[in-house]
Formats: sequence, C-alpha cells, structure tokens
Amino acid sequence: MGLNVIMMGAPGAGKGTQAGRFARERGLPTISTGDMLREAIKEKNPVALEAQAGMDRGELVDDGTIIAIVRDRLSKPDTRPGFVLDGFPRTVEQARALDAIMDERGRGPLVVVDVVVPEQELVRRLGSRRICSRCGANADPGATACTKCGGEFVVRADDDAQVVLERLKVYERATRPVLEYYRARPTFRMVNGAQAPEQVAHDVDSAIDGAASSGAPGQVAGERRTSARVAE
Ligand code: AMP
Repeated sequence: MGLNVIMMGAPGAGKGTQAGRFARERGLPTISTGDMLREAIKEKNPVALEAQAGMDRGELVDDGTIIAIVRDRLSKPDTRPGFVLDGFPRTVEQARALDAIMDERGRGPLVVVDVVVPEQELVRRLGSRRICSRCGANADPGATACTKCGGEFVVRADDDAQVVLERLKVYERATRPVLEYYRARPTFRMVNGAQAPEQVAHDVDSAIDGAASSGAPGQVAGERRTSARVAE
C-alpha cells in the first residue's frame, strides 16, 4: 500500500519545507503544483504563461488546469509507492477530483497533515522569505547564496506585501473548506507549525506514521471511504 500524503497549511506555514524533507527521507516524489507551474513558466509553456499574471497577484489557477496537471503526474510510475502533495488540493473541487483519481486507480488512503501557524506569524514569515532566482529553492536562514546551485536570492513575486494578504485571503476562502472536507477522516492530523523546525519535522513524521497505520489495516485498495476506524 502506497504512502500517499497531502501536506496542507497556509502560505508561509512551512508545508513546502516539510513536504520536501519528508519525501526525501522516505524516497517518495514531492508533487508541488506551485513548483510545476513555475517550471512550466520558465519553459514558456503557453497554458502556464496564461496563468502567470493571476499567480503574481496571489490568485488561484483554475481547477481544470491544475487537476489535469496532477492527474498526469499521478499516472507516472514513480508515484506508485506513494507521494507527497504540496500545494494541492487547494479547493474542494480539487479534493473531490483527487479522490476520484485515487479511486479509479485503486490507490491507498490519503494521509492529510495540516501544518497550523497563527496568521500574524504567517505574515511575518512571508514578508522575509527569499528564494533562489535560478532554481527557486527557499533560502536557508543566514545563507547569502543558494546552497543548492549558488544562485542569487530574490523576493518571490507573490510575496509582495499586498499579494501576501491576497494569498492569505484566498487561502481562507478557497482552501480552509478543504480541511473541513478531510477533517472527519481517520487519516487526518494537525501539527503545530509554530515550533522549532526540528520539532515540527518530528511531529510531522509521527503524525504521518500514526495516520498511515490507523488508516491502512484491513483496507483493500479503493475501499478507503468504507473502512472502519482503527486504533482511535
Ligand atoms: P505555491 O508555491 O504552492 O504557493 O503556489 C504558487 C501559486 O501557484 C499559487 O499562489 C497559485 O496561483 C498557483 N497554484 C499552485 N497550486 C495551485 C492549486 N492547487 N490550485 C490553484 N492554483 C495553484
């Protein structure tokens, strides 16, 4: 049974960092829709270029485009042992589409982790976030150049103060309902993201391992929603 993880959290909650770290440690692919869109823009993909202006304003890209990207990515064989989704689903329609994809393909249950950080702290973090202008990696605290490729750090276009507020508003309006959509599942977990990064990492690992073992027993692929709750 694959380990299928969704890392949820507001912009600035650290979900991207945690998703990347967890995926690396477990040898799973990270599927970051934001990274995929930014790469597609660099490659001058016409659909992505059309989405760029909205992204720079902090708006969401339309569900149809994003769902098609994720559907295609999840058909790749490297996702069979599992995957870590970062930045998807961001709307209830995307969450429903993901359930349908998982059911169609007989994939195991989804473990959903919500990294929770108070709004004031999110605004503070987003205001000081820097990324590499060349490879897009988040800047490590204290580093003056990218530790991955040596590139220069810049402010992400959508981390401008006005845009940050818009992104948080969009999160509240469109993405918070996704948490309600998942909350009742036996594989839903919350983690306090306002702690030291190592503590967050530790809690994320235990949350995922605990949820995976509570969601999986007795399950047959495709029977996710009818499974009994175990060990709660
Ligand atoms: P991120 O790096 O995850 O913050 O994504 C950057 C931007 O890409 C977002 O602000 C959206 O404009 C767009 N985007 C990424 N993922 C999604 C998604 N699942 N649904 C809609 N838009 C998305």
